[in-house]
Amino acid sequence: MDCKLRAKNCGGCPLLGLDYAAQLKQKEEKVRALLGKYGPVHPIRGMEQPYHYRNKVISTFAPGWGGKLTSGIYAANSHKVLPVESCLLQDEVLDKTMQAVRAAANACRYQPYDEDKGTGLVRHCLLRRGVATGQVMVVLVTAQPVLPGAKNFVKALLAETAQRGVTVTTVVQNVNSRKTSVVLGEAEKVLYGKGFILDTLCGKTYAISPRSFYQVNPAQTAVLYGLAVEAAKLTGKEVVLDAYCGIGTIGLTAADHAKQVVGVELNRDAVQDAIGNAKHNGVKNARFFAADATRWISEAAAAGEKADVIFMDPPREGSTPEFLASVARMAPKRVVYVSCNPVTLARDLATLTKLGYKAEGFTPVDMFPHTEHIETVCALSKLDIHGKKPSGRR
Ligand code: SAH
Repeated sequence: MDCKLRAKNCGGCPLLGLDYAAQLKQKEEKVRALLGKYGPVHPIRGMEQPYHYRNKVISTFAPGWGGKLTSGIYAANSHKVLPVESCLLQDEVLDKTMQAVRAAANACRYQPYDEDKGTGLVRHCLLRRGVATGQVMVVLVTAQPVLPGAKNFVKALLAETAQRGVTVTTVVQNVNSRKTSVVLGEAEKVLYGKGFILDTLCGKTYAISPRSFYQVNPAQTAVLYGLAVEAAKLTGKEVVLDAYCGIGTIGLTAADHAKQVVGVELNRDAVQDAIGNAKHNGVKNARFFAADATRWISEAAAAGEKADVIFMDPPREGSTPEFLASVARMAPKRVVYVSCNPVTLARDLATLTKLGYKAEGFTPVDMFPHTEHIETVCALSKLDIHGKKPSGRR
């Protein structure tokens, strides 16, 4: 499979030239090289149809032909926007949605923001689709708080999307006036609908806000969570901690099989979503806290709190030595580490191993076909250092 954007220096799919089976082998070997010394690496779980899997699109606006705006992604290692009509990784419904956003923005004569000069209005557009529910969210990121003719924009957008057979359920304006490459700003205004979309995953329904983290490949997320919950070996009696929990997905998937779930997450919007998600799914044994995971767990461990199982799913930079030391103090029987970066997983495993945990095995999951990213589930169990029977004296 090839893509015409590759020739134009799109860096989105660095592995596209490699046959999919070879990509999977390469990723599995990388995990084995980094982590094999800690335990067995099981076969990587790949996708049957490794295209159009992304439920989230970020498109950046730029000047196009004839005074109209266009949108696309930054070319590799540059700040030049490469116009994108369709993409092999993106949900095709979102390609159509983005065409409609451009048409509506052009109809309203919105000008693209210019990073260098600081002029113009519209910076980026974030799209999300709940693949199971069909709900679509449009987030228009503007450089200024005032969006002239916002009502007309929404009207034009709904007409343009309807023409393309797409149902947009919510439209949000996000204001980012800072000189930054970070896409979203702090302030938000709901222009249409509820300001979030719903999606269903592993039998539970989730609300997803513009700024909450949500896994981008739903089919493989179900595989990932299935492996994570299986690795936890829950019996219904356990107190479970879901650290770096996002909108609570792993903890809520595990909640039916546990006594109690406690989730911790830094992003306040995601925590609000997690609390609402527990409620709407009728989950009564889950609580969520907005805090830095290291700080929260250090305080919990110092107060003598215990957990039977700890799930941890940190961002690419991995966890911290203090977090891992507090995990050991809480003395869970099992730790399930879900990692999006095998390099930091290897670093953190060196620490967990010294703290008395043994990796039982690793299963890589290909969440991001055609890119170099690798997701891995690792199950660890507590070594019973006091379990040895006294020997010698009779
Ligand atoms: N388990 C969730 C989210 C995983 S992504 C899921 O599967 O969807 C990692 C999450 O860690 C993000 O939601 C991010 O906001 C959160 N995070 C990043 N740094 C953190 C910190 N220091 N403390 C707590 N959460 C953090």
